[in-house]
Amino acid sequence: MHPKRKPIIAGNWKMNMTAVDAVDLVRKLSYSIVNVKDREIVVAPPFTSLAAVEEAIRDTNIALAAQNMHWVDKGAFTGEISADMLLDSGCKYVIIGHSERRQFFGETDETVNKKIKQALKKGLLPIMCVGETLAEREAGKLDEIISRQITGGLKEISADDMKKVVIAYEPVWAIGTGKTATPEQANEVHALIRGKVKSLYNADVAEGLRIQYGGSVTPENVSQLMAKPDIDGALVGGASLKPDSFAALVNFK
Ligand code: PEP
Repeated sequence: MHPKRKPIIAGNWKMNMTAVDAVDLVRKLSYSIVNVKDREIVVAPPFTSLAAVEEAIRDTNIALAAQNMHWVDKGAFTGEISADMLLDSGCKYVIIGHSERRQFFGETDETVNKKIKQALKKGLLPIMCVGETLAEREAGKLDEIISRQITGGLKEISADDMKKVVIAYEPVWAIGTGKTATPEQANEVHALIRGKVKSLYNADVAEGLRIQYGGSVTPENVSQLMAKPDIDGALVGGASLKPDSFAALVNFK
């Protein structure tokens, strides 16, 4: 954590929760974090709960994110959701390129880049996910994979627009597995990402960039992770599905 960067704790609910469940969770969460001002709190429900959650978090300190979007304005793309639809549902952020989307739905650095450009053009703030698989890490390809994802995902994004992007480092081997990267391992990759962004842009952009860590973050390990200088937040799956543990994540020491 760095004094210049406001920590951002985001819950990615993935394909979980009906609108009723989502509203219940967010109401309980909002009561226990009502006084939090020094950290940003974001929830990413499924598309079908966005409108209901938006209503429930209006006038709270919780912001709304979507988990994905298409890069085209509108048209014949059955099953897809556009940036305008997300804005219409009250979203401020959109998660782009989550490893589950890369792994199961064929997303590539190229589609990630198109989505980021579209999000920025429309006024949504992208949370761009990057991360290596265990096989890539063990083959010594960590730097290569992260550099490729950063360079490809951010292609032709201006320095001004880059100031609106959040990056989430999520090692694929740590997502939903209970295996967290150690704070040292995570910080090392965050520093690598910041260095890469510095070389693509400038020191100002790199210093302002918020990089979240994701991968089995829990109330038990969040404070040690957040104590590291290049870790500016967390993108959390499992532990964000219960109001008490989500609130505990937000209230990291
Ligand atoms: C995620 O969905 O981005 C994630 C990190 O999941 P989990 O916290 O369950 O590992």
